Amino acid sequence: MTDEYQFRSPRQHEQSTPVLGDGTRCVHAGLPEPTPGAPFLPGPVFAAPYHLDPRQGPEGSPNGYGRSDNPTRRLLEAAVGELEGGDCRVFASGQAAITGLLLAVLRAGDAVVLPSDGYFPVRAFATDTLAGNGVEVQFAPTVGPYPDLDGVRLVLVETPANPGLDVVDLPALAERVHAAGALLAVDNTTATPLGQRPLDLGADVVVASGTKALTGHSDLLLGYVATRSVDLLSTVTAWRTATGSVPGAFDAWLAHRSLATLDLRLARQTANADALTRLLAARTDVDGLRWPGLPDDPAHPVAVRQLRRMPGVLSFDLGSADRVVRFLDAARLVVAATSFGGLHTTADRRAQWGDDTPPGFVRLSCGVEDTADLIADVGAALDAAG
Ligand SMILES: *Cc1c(COP(=O)(O)O)cnc(C)c1O
Repeated sequence: MTDEYQFRSPRQHEQSTPVLGDGTRCVHAGLPEPTPGAPFLPGPVFAAPYHLDPRQGPEGSPNGYGRSDNPTRRLLEAAVGELEGGDCRVFASGQAAITGLLLAVLRAGDAVVLPSDGYFPVRAFATDTLAGNGVEVQFAPTVGPYPDLDGVRLVLVETPANPGLDVVDLPALAERVHAAGALLAVDNTTATPLGQRPLDLGADVVVASGTKALTGHSDLLLGYVATRSVDLLSTVTAWRTATGSVPGAFDAWLAHRSLATLDLRLARQTANADALTRLLAARTDVDGLRWPGLPDDPAHPVAVRQLRRMPGVLSFDLGSADRVVRFLDAARLVVAATSFGGLHTTADRRAQWGDDTPPGFVRLSCGVEDTADLIADVGAALDAAG
């Protein structure tokens, strides 16, 4: 089935691992060649229509109309594409990117496999909209077992999964998916392209929310699709132009500006998650601690093979909604908020959003605060929560 999409290079285990370090790549990603008198990152270009050449019309310039063309957006796409090792299209949000890929690729009668423990709104979209369109929707847990993939057109996995943080072996799964003639899509939101390069690990296409750690300042919504298939990229591009689910110029510029510090932000977030999980693991009043970086976490063996760095997100269970409230009331550096990957440490009781997690289940996202301050604060808040 995937014969329909041509890939510009071998799909499996392509050795495109970058030569330059992550910090260097982030600082330079997508920037134009230095031009005297020009800024490092050109400011946002605000335009709906652009001037056209009266004779050549749209052929005379790369920019005709803002829904399909925007130079600020193209620079961001170059940056994210460099980091993922593919060609990228950005969307107005992660949901716009993921639902866009699913709607652009899947037809009535197709079967799709989605994570049963992944991002809840994607599952809800599948059972409502996709199933309503005549797509056969199947769910599998991130760690498997995966169903028989015969006749399946696309498998979407989220790894590490949000919020459970399970990890699936991507090269092994890619082999199975490709043997069945299906496409493998990987939601790379939690890891970010610095934490995991799914296209190098056998995935055909990456989808992600750029709202989270990628941009990391809790001030914009963004999504993207990245692939090495020219045909799939053009299918996705045509979908985006037809539906108009593009980010605005200012958000695209802010996102690109934020990418420069991704390596630094992730480094502190990971260090904080590492220290915090040690504290939490040593406490008898915290259950179900999950972080792929913990040596005894079930996801650890696969995570150390395929993640380039551990995420700043962890999860645990405080037993009841009340105890979570007491913990958040007592904490000074952990604020109640959904989303994750931002500069500020946040905690989210997922059940309050209708997620199928236990009432005391907390997803905690480490910010870039000083590690010692965060550890002291969380310890004191847990003591106060009783
Ligand atoms: C947040 C999230 C999304 C959706 O992204 P938005 O930018 O909020 O639309 C999709 N997948 C995962 C894993 C997420 O965490």
